[in-house]
Amino acid sequence: MLLTLAVLFVCSCTLFMSGTGEAKGKIHRLMSIESHALEIDGRDAVRIQIGMNRRDLSYAIMANEQSELRIALEDVKLDKKLPSEYVPQGTLADKVTIMPEGKDDAILTIEAKDSFLHKDAFRIRTMPGDPHDKVKEYLVVDILAPAAHPSPAQGHSIVIDPGHGGSDSGAVGYSGLREKDVALAVSKRLKELLYEAGAAVIMTRTEDADVSHAGSSPSRELGARVDVSREHPEAEIFLSVHCNSFTNPDAHGMETYYYPKTDADEHLATLLNEELAEAGGLYNRGVKYARFYVLRQTNIPASLVELGFLSNPDEEALLADTNYQEKLAQALLRAIERYFDEEGEK
Ligand SMILES: [Zn+2]
Repeated sequence: MLLTLAVLFVCSCTLFMSGTGEAKGKIHRLMSIESHALEIDGRDAVRIQIGMNRRDLSYAIMANEQSELRIALEDVKLDKKLPSEYVPQGTLADKVTIMPEGKDDAILTIEAKDSFLHKDAFRIRTMPGDPHDKVKEYLVVDILAPAAHPSPAQGHSIVIDPGHGGSDSGAVGYSGLREKDVALAVSKRLKELLYEAGAAVIMTRTEDADVSHAGSSPSRELGARVDVSREHPEAEIFLSVHCNSFTNPDAHGMETYYYPKTDADEHLATLLNEELAEAGGLYNRGVKYARFYVLRQTNIPASLVELGFLSNPDEEALLADTNYQEKLAQALLRAIERYFDEEGEK
C-alpha cells in the first residue's frame, strides 16, 4: 500500500505511506541531520532535514500525537556519525531522535512542546540533494506554528464537482471555449485555496475525463458524481461548477441553484451567489430552486453554480481569462468560509 504523496499537509494520526516502492530492499544510509528556522506562508517554522546516500526513501507517518510525531523509515541504516539525539534550531521542536527498528528500518521521532494536532502542523517530503554531493536525497520535515488567523474552512471537508469532462464538453462557447475546461480550471484553483485554508477537498474529477468511464451516459455521469460524495461520509458540502449557454447570444449573467433537501442548501447557494456577484460583476440572475440530480441525490447541502454564459461573447472572453477565473475561485472560497463561519456559531 505505497502511495506517492509529495507533501502531506494534514494528518490526524492515521498511517500514511509515502515515497516510492522502487527502492525496496536497497538500503539508504542516513548521513546527516540539520535544521534551520524559517517562515512558511507567513508562519514561523523549523525545517529539519536528514541527508541520505540514495533517492526514493519510503516513509510512513506512524503517529501524530499531542507532542510527538513519529515517522517510520524503511530500508535504512544509521551512519555512525549520525547523532541518535538532535536538538533543532528555534523553539517549535524540542528534540529529534532516530532509532533503529528491526533489521533495516528506523523510527524518526520529533518531540515538541506545542501540539502537533493543529491543522497543517507539519509537512513532509523528500527533496533531491546536489548531484555532485554524497547526499543524494533529503527527507524534509517542516514543523509549523499555528496560523495566526485560521480560515473558518479549516478542518472542514468539501466536495468539488467540476461539471462535465472527458467525452462531455458541456456547453461550447461562441468562439470555442469549452465548459468542461473552465469548470475544471476554477475548481482546481478553488481546491488549492481550500488546501491552503486547511480544508480537505474531494474532487469528483481532477483531469479532463469522464467520472465513471469514457463515453458514459449523462445519467451515469451524474450518478458517479453523487457516488463520490456519498463515499466520503466526512464531506460536509457539495459544490458543482458549471457555465451556462443559450441559443440567444444576448443571454447573460451568473446564477446559483439549490434543492432544499436540508436546511442549509438554499443558504449555501445564497452565499455563493452573493460572493460571485460581488467578485465577478456579472448580471445576477439570482438564487434558484432546481431539481438537478446532483442537488437532490447528494446527502449534504449542495449547490450548482453557473459562472456565466459561454454563448455570450463578452462573458466567454471573461471566463477564458485566468485572472477572472482567479476572482471566481476566491469568491467561491469566501462563500465557503462564510458558510462554515456561521456553522461554527450555531
Ligand atoms: Zn453544465
